[in-house]
Amino acid sequence: MPVSKKMLGALNDQITMELAASHSYLAMAGWFESQNLPGMATWMQIQSAEERAHALKFFDFVVDRGEDVVLGAIEAPQGVFGSVLEVFERALAQEKSVTASINSLYTLASSEGELEAVPLLTWFINEQVEEEASVDQVVEDLRRAGDDPQALLMLDRELGARPVEE
Ligand code: MG
Repeated sequence: MPVSKKMLGALNDQITMELAASHSYLAMAGWFESQNLPGMATWMQIQSAEERAHALKFFDFVVDRGEDVVLGAIEAPQGVFGSVLEVFERALAQEKSVTASINSLYTLASSEGELEAVPLLTWFINEQVEEEASVDQVVEDLRRAGDDPQALLMLDRELGARPVEE
């Protein structure tokens, strides 16, 4: 059974959204480099690569279902920030909007009878719980660190040790 037009449009939009997130995290990595926070820059680079991998998961699914991939435009991301905390708060907001989009894709897959998409979307629902939790942890750590440069340096080292995942 072919993918419904509505579902296909939503899947293609999700590919673009993941790529936009990747683009945005790369801009954040650039800002951290400019602030001499190489650990946070590394963390953002890894996050950016992860988002591209997410886009490719949806890309592969669309192709495997015999449908055409249609990529959308990506807006220039924010590249200048007022503080380290602001960057991670922005990242958390971004993850929350991705979560909302994944959740509505799941609802759409159910209503459109696109059951083939359910395992993929279930994976993403779990992934978003982890994404939000990890960014939220950094936001909390940064709030606790406040203006203490020593605490910020320690956090930078800790985030720079992030292992490369899937
Ligand atoms: Mg993602």
